[in-house]
Amino acid sequence: MEKTHPYEKTGILSSADLKRLNLLPSNQRLNKGPVVVVECVQEIPCDPCAEACPKKAITIEGNITNIPKVNFELCNGCTLCISCCPGLAIFVVNKNYNEKEAALTLPYEFIPLPEKGEIVSGLDRTGKKVCRARVEKVLTSKAFDHCAVITIAIPKKYWNTVRSIKLTNPVRITNQKKRKPIFAKKF
Ligand code: SF4
Ligand code: SF4
Repeated sequence: MEKTHPYEKTGILSSADLKRLNLLPSNQRLNKGPVVVVECVQEIPCDPCAEACPKKAITIEGNITNIPKVNFELCNGCTLCISCCPGLAIFVVNKNYNEKEAALTLPYEFIPLPEKGEIVSGLDRTGKKVCRARVEKVLTSKAFDHCAVITIAIPKKYWNTVRSIKLTNPVRITNQKKRKPIFAKKF
């Protein structure tokens, strides 16, 4: 009988699942610079990731319910595909951001948004805090459909562990109440 993997029940992939399912770039590709990681294993009718990639690095072959395939050599890590994914399943990893840190670019649908330079919590795929993360970039656009694209710097060893963030500075959140949330207005 075929073995059932925990993610099939929980919907939460682990680092080991990604390796086993060949969803990760090779070390050689990771060392070349930023590259996409598409953590999508559910067979659903969906393809905006393939439409969004100008390099044709993501393809969905045959039926639209097939899971996306990634040609890591074609991807230049531009991050354009991140905000188009309704499953928030696309990330860009720069494993060698600097000597000690990796950079992770991720989708973020909450408000308030963090600010550049802010220290936030880096969470794993289950939502557990694993490290501190420094916000390097916050991109918003009408074209992103209420999904900001945020780049954080994290300890290099967590490049395949951290996949979301949580704000850690309540003072800033209090202050930000005075600001107009960017998604409060209608695009
Ligand atoms: S990061 Fe850019 S090049 Fe890579 S898959 Fe996404 S859209 Fe394509
Ligand atoms: S857009 Fe996201 S959910 Fe849809 S197929 Fe692509 S990776 Fe999967």
